[in-house]
Amino acid sequence: MKKNQKTVRLTPAQFTTQCLYLKGEPFSFSGYEHMVPVYDINARELVLKTSRQVSKSTTLANLMLSRACMIPHFNQLYISPSVDQSKIFSNDRVTPVIEDSPVLRKYYVNTGLMQNVFTKHLANGSRLYLRYAQSDPDRLRGLSTDINYYDEAQDIDPDIIPIVNQSMSRSMYKKSVFSGTPKRTKGTLASLWYRSTMYEWFVKCQGCYKYNFLDHKNIGIKGPICKYCGNYLDTKQGQWIPTGDPESFTKGFRISILMFAGAPWIDWHHDVIQYRKTCTSDAIFFNEVLGLEYDDGVSPVTEADIRRCCTGGPMKTELDRITSSHPRVLGIDYGPMASNRSHTVLTVLQRNRQSKPEVLFMKKYRAEEADYGFIHDDVPRQMTHWGGSIVGADAGLGDGPNAEIRKRLGAFEKVIAFRHLSSQKSLMQWNDKSMEYTLNKTKVLTKFFQMIKNQEIVFPQWEDFNEFAQDILNMTIDYDDTMGTYRYVNDGPDDALHSILYSELASRFVNNYNITI
Ligand SMILES: [Zn+2]
Repeated sequence: MKKNQKTVRLTPAQFTTQCLYLKGEPFSFSGYEHMVPVYDINARELVLKTSRQVSKSTTLANLMLSRACMIPHFNQLYISPSVDQSKIFSNDRVTPVIEDSPVLRKYYVNTGLMQNVFTKHLANGSRLYLRYAQSDPDRLRGLSTDINYYDEAQDIDPDIIPIVNQSMSRSMYKKSVFSGTPKRTKGTLASLWYRSTMYEWFVKCQGCYKYNFLDHKNIGIKGPICKYCGNYLDTKQGQWIPTGDPESFTKGFRISILMFAGAPWIDWHHDVIQYRKTCTSDAIFFNEVLGLEYDDGVSPVTEADIRRCCTGGPMKTELDRITSSHPRVLGIDYGPMASNRSHTVLTVLQRNRQSKPEVLFMKKYRAEEADYGFIHDDVPRQMTHWGGSIVGADAGLGDGPNAEIRKRLGAFEKVIAFRHLSSQKSLMQWNDKSMEYTLNKTKVLTKFFQMIKNQEIVFPQWEDFNEFAQDILNMTIDYDDTMGTYRYVNDGPDDALHSILYSELASRFVNNYNITI
């Protein structure tokens, strides 16, 4: 170290205000003091749940650049779900700051360093990798990084995160930052948020002294107002309060337009009041302006509904005196072979003494067992083990596997194929041509959910059934207000739900119970 030179320790926020410039001006947190902890918090996982217009991309770029400058040989990876988003981030957020900041120009870049849209090299050996991945992390293999930033995390497949994070296996830092706009209360960003500290910016009203959690009730004609007394609310004056687990190593912040009400780029009338009037749905307004989740699809059943059906005790592994005295059927829903999220699921079900359908056993085919070759052999094995009479199976993905399983069982009629149709009026009908039963998906699922609501089906105890129950909870109701109709859409895998459904339908054939349902 040269004489007169001294080491100065700066936080990322201090570095940003002292060394980073944009369009000739240094960055400033004046009026945006709530952003300082967001920059400086030292978290293994950081979640930024944001609305639009809160400088989310600028924050990510400044975080990356300040760390890249302050720590030599520090490698950081930015990932968005699309190549266009990553290019825009690189060209509009990272490059202009490098070019406009005198300190960076003088000490951190020179003509000898290779720069391109996807990789930025600094003279201190630090690198920024700006890449993209939605569901396939293959092109990210081989990178060695210290922090990974996931932008638009709500659109990233959660299964790729541990794979991408292998890039940090040799790092001393190993930190992840997730940012995005919330959608529903389920999904990649939502599950990160709910396990975080869930810091909310509470603003104390100077009129009534009550603390305001910022939401749609704080929107006044001219600006933010107190939801209790209607006074003007200065949202710059607030404090971060954890509304989740304060001890969580995942630190989460919700940042909304209401906290930037006075910012020069916010036109309150245009961006909030007018937008609310023209916004096509409440969901979009809540997500994009308030940074809040919004469930427009109501779940047809709740976890409590399902738990009330979990009276069957531990999941069975074999038949006993009681279960062997009633016929058993199998149900199967096929998952795509190479998927990490959707799996083939097998169900063993019978109608018990009270004639209620009861799930005895379920199995998810994972890893090497997900191979159809294995499943073709395993289903007949399970038929023998459980003494099953027939299999209710899905057509579509199942056309190939069903043929294979029929061959092994030696009888066409031992596999009853079901196919969901949206156009069909009747609930279930036989199709002579395709030799399968077609179902009206909405009607058949409505019946199934009613069965759960009314406790007309028995599941194994919750500890054993939990992982399968999630597939039922992934189903939401999607209303079409203009048509006055609704349908079911799944937000995540739904294979276990269909597997149970097919076994329940198949059991009606065996017991001659009530085929017309
Ligand atoms: Zn008030």
